Amino acid sequence: MFNNIGEKIKTWAVVECWLAIIASIIIGIFLIAQGMPSSEEIAYGRVVETPANTFLIFCGIGVAIFGSFFAWLSSLLVYGFGELIETNAEIAFNTTNVPSQEKIKEPSKPITWTCSLCNKKHTDDTDVCGCVPYISP
Ligand SMILES: [Zn+2]
Repeated sequence: MFNNIGEKIKTWAVVECWLAIIASIIIGIFLIAQGMPSSEEIAYGRVVETPANTFLIFCGIGVAIFGSFFAWLSSLLVYGFGELIETNAEIAFNTTNVPSQEKIKEPSKPITWTCSLCNKKHTDDTDVCGCVPYISP
């Protein structure tokens, strides 16, 4: 139920955005319809354009356009938040499964001989100490 919260928030952002856009358009159309002359007025040729009617039509257009725009704008914020949670969870998952540098490092080889001149300790990888490279031991 609370797994993949980022994914769910993103899905909700998209759903909520579309619902708000549809609602804005429906309210807009309703307001425009209120401002329009009724079919009776048209039928009887008594269409009177009042400032109130014109105002309602403009309001309807405004609600449809700006309502949709702000629905989209606010859903961006929610969507971005969901994305943030999702990527954060991904980073946490990736970093916990990566072995640390300490574990990758090979175990150091045992010391097999010590240079008699400088006392530097060596493994059996080399027969020559770096302190006097021209002299073979
Ligand atoms: Zn040496």
